[in-house]
Amino acid sequence: MDKLCPIDLRSDTVTRPDEPMRAAMAAAEVADDVLDGDPTMATLEAETAELLGQQDAIWVPSGCMGNAIALMLHLSRGDRFLAPCGAHVLENELGTSSWLALGAPQALAWHERGRPRPEDIHAFASGEEPYFALRTRLLCLENTHMVAGGTVTSLEEHQRLVAAARKASLSIHLDGARLCNASVALGVSPTELAHDVDSVQICLSKGLGAPVGSVLAGSAAFVEEARRMRKMLGGGVRQGGIMAAAGRHALTRRKELATDHNNAVQLSRGLRTLGWSVNDPETNMVLADVVDISTTLQRLRSVGVLAVPVGARVRFVLHADVSAGDVTEVLRRIRNAL
Ligand SMILES: *Cc1c(COP(=O)(O)O)cnc(C)c1O
Repeated sequence: MDKLCPIDLRSDTVTRPDEPMRAAMAAAEVADDVLDGDPTMATLEAETAELLGQQDAIWVPSGCMGNAIALMLHLSRGDRFLAPCGAHVLENELGTSSWLALGAPQALAWHERGRPRPEDIHAFASGEEPYFALRTRLLCLENTHMVAGGTVTSLEEHQRLVAAARKASLSIHLDGARLCNASVALGVSPTELAHDVDSVQICLSKGLGAPVGSVLAGSAAFVEEARRMRKMLGGGVRQGGIMAAAGRHALTRRKELATDHNNAVQLSRGLRTLGWSVNDPETNMVLADVVDISTTLQRLRSVGVLAVPVGARVRFVLHADVSAGDVTEVLRRIRNAL
């Protein structure tokens, strides 16, 4: 291996479609999805609805659009919504929850990495507020939690949070960009992890390796409205079957996410041996505490190891285009250079 050939651990979005995926895309049966439906899109949407235990589903070009549509449908002007601190809908979607969905965001503290407490939902939505208080309407969960380092919410915790939200008459949206990682890590089906939510979004373009696309699932009535909203946002596409075929192929790769999780454990162990302070990865992300983030990232780049900052920590993400051998090579480069 060329020493300077970069190993890209910035994100699981950098994966490129492999040959079988490209072949599936090339062979896809297609039609105009805006006019009267694309058959491959329809199949992907039906399969994903079933995978997530929802009545119906709709393909969207990105996870951000899936979340934006969900929040636009769940919230009215000035409604408050709750989401765990650092959630993608709070920090990484350019405020669309406010300027498109007109919601008032409220971050929930973590009681443990990325996981809020059911009691805190009650604190913001007791049902006993006076008429002039903010009205809380929605709980937005994130599993796995990205900023916390790909941390997993267990089925029991999910159920407790859902029960607290229901008690407060809140709707529930699950940002499941990496729900399949959580499912594989826990050995629990995506259906169970999306139990009793009103809507759920999963990304096909992260660890699952599709070049583009997410799927938003919910009730038939919700998805019917979501289809109008997607069109308003410019997200209706014509012969989308080419992308849906990539998505269908991506979903067959779910079990392979376990390889990324194993590689994350190998990387964290190796870094610890080299004296680094790192998390115990729950899925495909390794977070490292460093003294000087920009110097560290620059040194890593100089030896062909690409990573990104998350706050003051270095984030390494394992994905399908990084093998166990690449992890060994990353550790070798870091040992020699830092
Ligand atoms: C990546 C991500 C999204 C958004 O997906 P895009 O396809 O990049 O718009 C939403 N939520 C979480 C937790 C993510 O990691």
